[in-house]
Amino acid sequence: MTTAAAAPGTCLACDLTSGARHLPGGRVHQTARWVVEHCVGPLGLGTLVVKPLRHVLHVADLDEAESAELGPLLRLTSAAVTEVIQPEQVYVCLWSHAGGAPAHIHFVVQPVTAADHARFGARGPDLQAAMFRAGAPPGEDEIDRVCARLRGVLRPGAADVTVAPAMPGSAEGRAVLTAYFRDIVSRARGREATPGEVDAAMREEPSDDLRPPGGLLLVARQGHAVVGCVGLRLLPDGLGEVTRVFVQPVARGRGVGAQLMHAVEDAARDCAVARLRLDTSSDLTEARRLYARTGYREVAPFGEGRWSDIWLEKVIGS
Ligand SMILES: [Zn+2]
Repeated sequence: MTTAAAAPGTCLACDLTSGARHLPGGRVHQTARWVVEHCVGPLGLGTLVVKPLRHVLHVADLDEAESAELGPLLRLTSAAVTEVIQPEQVYVCLWSHAGGAPAHIHFVVQPVTAADHARFGARGPDLQAAMFRAGAPPGEDEIDRVCARLRGVLRPGAADVTVAPAMPGSAEGRAVLTAYFRDIVSRARGREATPGEVDAAMREEPSDDLRPPGGLLLVARQGHAVVGCVGLRLLPDGLGEVTRVFVQPVARGRGVGAQLMHAVEDAARDCAVARLRLDTSSDLTEARRLYARTGYREVAPFGEGRWSDIWLEKVIGS
């Protein structure tokens, strides 16, 4: 059994969280059941520790709610460290022993740069061992500065993205669809698309039908900003076509795409859609990863999209 927190003075992790011990950089981020802090050891600047608020000694003892938060939080934390430190790789590891006994579990999220490799001449566990041998934790000023930046990236508002229907002809509908086409055309041309090229693409593939009763457009909002969109077309025989999947570059890497895909799937189910399909292009690598993660499988071509060379489908109902 694990208790809420260990007795003061018996667990470093609990003492840092409770404030019984000084925490350089202060708390970086928190969810309902987890906390993110800067590592107090010598594993380098920007290395974070992700640990449960409860005094848990074994991953197998995490409860359902703690487990559900863990994956998204590790990804979010790794993305934040990547944005701020720009490492070659981010190690995520867990070696929770203290004084020869199992200790409060804490996932170390460590950005590793080429400079680390040059300085310590090692990578992986050998790099960590070399860093512990050197035993030089970063200075508190540096930690404060990097934690302030990490807090900015991880600020609670960053996750507060809401998804709601919008009309394609509304101001925000037009704005996000224009951004979508600018992205698609620029990628296809390998350079920034001109306004004229974007207009032409939008005329060629109108979005006016992405509204009830034949379809819909969902937009993702963060505060007053529209950060993404997804469209749905209702086709005969319980079929739905997902289209206009887009996340603004500034909002990428935070799960907005997955949130949009889940929202459009829910909306499709409400319209008695049993199968969703979409087409995409082999050069849209982030989008393709998103579709694979959300359960889409490649199928034979079902149309001739101007910008597509991959066709995908997902069964969502019986
Ligand atoms: Zn503890």
